[in-house]
Amino acid sequence: METLGLCLLSALICCYYFWIRNIYRKNSGDPGPPAAGGERPRPGAAALLVTAHPDDECMFFAPALLRLAGRGLSVHLLCLSTGNFYKQGDVRKKELLQSCAVLGIPSSRVTILDHSDLPDNPRVQWDPALIAMLILRHVQIHHISLVLTFDEDGVSGHANHIALYYAIRKLHSEKKLPNGCQALVLQSTNVLRKYISILDLPISWLRPHYVMYILHSWEYQQAKKAMYCHQSQLLWFRHLYLYISRYMFINTFHLMSQ
Ligand SMILES: [Zn+2]
Repeated sequence: METLGLCLLSALICCYYFWIRNIYRKNSGDPGPPAAGGERPRPGAAALLVTAHPDDECMFFAPALLRLAGRGLSVHLLCLSTGNFYKQGDVRKKELLQSCAVLGIPSSRVTILDHSDLPDNPRVQWDPALIAMLILRHVQIHHISLVLTFDEDGVSGHANHIALYYAIRKLHSEKKLPNGCQALVLQSTNVLRKYISILDLPISWLRPHYVMYILHSWEYQQAKKAMYCHQSQLLWFRHLYLYISRYMFINTFHLMSQ
């Protein structure tokens, strides 16, 4: 009886292993989501990540950024604040540029705004119309064909993250984005899934999503290196976050639809 139990357990572990390997194989080579016409973004196409604070790019979006840059897309970053809540804005701007360099975004493609109406502050509601105007200008200047940002829960629930979602939703619903420009929003998960690291992979795969980006172990080292660029933010829990957050390994996106 014990032998039979061990055999069954071994078979289950083997199946699980091959299932996970299959998920990796299917998603790790993905150059990006199909465009509206069914084509995938070509190497050289421009993608734009819109974030609220320096460090959002590596805490939440590293898998997508590394995957898109690695496949030859020209990735831009628009960060809507300097992260000056604790008066560290100047330091954090430099840290952001270093982090972006590690993630494959040169400083010439990084824009960090310091707008009086968009302070780094979870108690201040950012105006979606203002943000929408700033994003649209960026999209038009850089001929962006793919915009990525937070979803309506903002991963961490931060009001500044959520404001970005409402801005992109406004652009999308008012049909102001150029033809063929897609908007993807990063799926927020419940707190349990958020902190089970790579173990969330089967759940991420089974849950509905438009595109999934998963990092291999060597790419994860790059994401970790980017996080270490944000020295002013590296409190003890950030070190823990590196190992337990699914967002260091996995990104799943919804396609914004009407
Ligand atoms: Zn943030």
